Amino acid sequence: MVQPFSSDVHTRSQAHLWLPFTQMKDYDMTPLIITHGEGVKLYDTTGRAYYDAFSSVWLNVHGHRKHALDQAIVQQLSKVAHTTSLGMTHDVAVHLATKLVSLAPSGLTRVFYSDSGATSVEVALKMAFQYWQNVGRPEKNTFVTMEGNYHGDTLGAVSVGNIERFHALYRPLLFPCLRVPFPDAYRHPSGDAHVCAADCIATIENTLAQHGHQIAALIVEPLVQGASGMRLMPPGFLRDVARLCKQYEVLLICDEVATGFGRTGTLFACEQEGISPDLMTVAKGLTGGYLPVAATLTTSRIYDAFYDDYEAGKTLFHGHSYTGNPLGCAVALANLQLFEEENILAHVQSSAQIVRETLATWRPIAAIGDIRQLGLMVGIELVENRHTKQSYPSARRMGYHATQRMRELGLLTRPLGDTIVFMPPLASTHDELREMLHIIRQAIEDVTQPPYSSLVANKA
Ligand code: PLP
Repeated sequence: MVQPFSSDVHTRSQAHLWLPFTQMKDYDMTPLIITHGEGVKLYDTTGRAYYDAFSSVWLNVHGHRKHALDQAIVQQLSKVAHTTSLGMTHDVAVHLATKLVSLAPSGLTRVFYSDSGATSVEVALKMAFQYWQNVGRPEKNTFVTMEGNYHGDTLGAVSVGNIERFHALYRPLLFPCLRVPFPDAYRHPSGDAHVCAADCIATIENTLAQHGHQIAALIVEPLVQGASGMRLMPPGFLRDVARLCKQYEVLLICDEVATGFGRTGTLFACEQEGISPDLMTVAKGLTGGYLPVAATLTTSRIYDAFYDDYEAGKTLFHGHSYTGNPLGCAVALANLQLFEEENILAHVQSSAQIVRETLATWRPIAAIGDIRQLGLMVGIELVENRHTKQSYPSARRMGYHATQRMRELGLLTRPLGDTIVFMPPLASTHDELREMLHIIRQAIEDVTQPPYSSLVANKA
């Protein structure tokens, strides 16, 4: 029987849980347990409300307890909760695949389900690798990734990941990749996005020209590199990368796990550059942030290379127990229907404008080095010296302390180093967005200006 909540739930969380991406010593000092949500707010065991300003780690679209989404799950529950996708399927998986293909960039006609962003990436990597085996070019077995890429925490995804703090330790367990630079205009010596992009493209072209015969695929986070600090690709850059991939016969994998489903203002980020990748991964927003369903979409060219008599040995041996879960597919379909009924993309565009105008008034805050925004995907980078772009010493944990202060003021988000993430549910109203930004601004001012900043320095 499920135990009712009791006052010692904090103690028990500290006794038994081990939380992801969390130093448990930090958690033990400031435990937080959510009991329910409503709209864009979450509530803890004491009844305190918090804005969900990071969409529960970049997932939520329509807010919490959205009636149409709740109902989609209840209705599916009256039919079947789960049935396997191995060698068979169910009707909602078919409906969702059909819908995804109709919405995806042209040419992506096949949908392979999995259950998280990381697994959707594993599938894409295996498909790309095996594609070249199946077409008789096994020497094309290497991947190209960009500095700062993040694709999840399973070991294949970590192999194509490139964030030192998360990934360096595991290097001995990983397969080697070729690494090319990401066009980070803010930190580029020229400070100019076009010069920076041209520099990176030249290096990428060199790499592909030299090693193209060994390269299976190049993987990118299209337009916004999320976990490395919401870094933006200059316009035209992704289109150039796609062109080079075609030229040197390298498959292009666009990881739309974070950017997909309206987050950047279009349904998929790669639409903004008019490109169609060979493989595209989606997860997070696919179910509106409700259930773990992910997918890897690909072309008939890749699919056909696996289609043969069993004895030909071309089968893709990959799958997870909960792949394409019917409850998840049902809520994903309802989510996509709401995108149309509630005109979410137009709402994101008007909301992004409100956010942009508000953030433009933050320039006088000395601790803000850079503000990066595409749609409702925002990173606010705190620096010790905005003229030299000198970061705070990492021991000060400025981003962490700023978000702890936001929590005290009634808002939840997580930092990426010293970059504050603002990724509200896409359906947040303009007033809710303004209130969230008001709290974020106050917290940044509090922790970066005396007397609070000296308290933070002493705590670190
Ligand atoms: N790919 C990208 C671009 C991501 O941002 C993330 C997560 O933040 C992932 C993959 C991994 O997704 P998941 O946490 O669902 O495994």
